[in-house]
Parts: sequence; C-alpha cells; structure tokens
Amino acid sequence: MPFVVTTACLDILDRSCLDQCPVDCIYLGERMTYINPDECIDCGACEPSCPQNAIFHIDDLPAEEAHLAPVAERFLRTMRAVGGNIDRGPLGADPPEIAALSPRAQD
Ligand code: SF4
Ligand code: SF4
Repeated sequence: MPFVVTTACLDILDRSCLDQCPVDCIYLGERMTYINPDECIDCGACEPSCPQNAIFHIDDLPAEEAHLAPVAERFLRTMRAVGGNIDRGPLGADPPEIAALSPRAQD
C-alpha cells in the first residue's frame, strides 16, 4: 500500500521529498508532486522529509484528501510516468482536479 501526496504540497514544491525516495517514484507536477503507487515500495522515507507534512500513508489520509489517491494514479498512468523519475524532471502538468484548485494564499 503506497504513500500519497496531499494538497498541503500545492504551490510549494520545494522538492525535499524527491531525493529521499530510493526508487524515484515521486513525480513533479506543475503545482504539486505525485507518488506512483505502482512503484512505491512503502518505505516511508519521504514522509518525514516534507516540511508541509503533505505525505501520508494511504491508510492514514485525511478524509478530505482521500479522493487524491486514484487521481494521482490515473494521472501518472496518463502521463506514462513510470520507470523512475531519475532526472527529477517535471511533468509539466497536473490532473484537472488539481489544476482547477485556487492558488495557495500567500503566508
Ligand atoms: S514511501 Fe518510499 S518508495 Fe514510496 S514514495 Fe515515499 S520514499 Fe518513495
Ligand atoms: S517535500 Fe512535501 S511540499 Fe516538498 S515537494 Fe515533497 S510533498 Fe511537496
């Protein structure tokens, strides 16, 4: 069972999690990151690295974010984001559900 990035990452994208993943299965969208559940080995290394506390095990997702697990999975399959994000390269897109969200308010 994989880990999932929640919208606490939205418009932050500081990339701290990318270097922690031993299998390079965290992909960089335009506005947030996405974990490929088919590649995630459930090691948990990314979770404590996130300054936004945006990463959760799928079983511990906040209820209001539970819909994101299939959204990310569908998006990554559409983008053919498989085989490891070795170059940490951006995908240049987000799923429609994420792209439509309001910009994060400035702190
Ligand atoms: S739980 Fe491990 S394998 Fe899965 S995304 Fe996080 S660091 Fe990568
Ligand atoms: S560390 Fe957290 S805020 Fe930074 S890119 Fe990863 S999920 Fe987003």
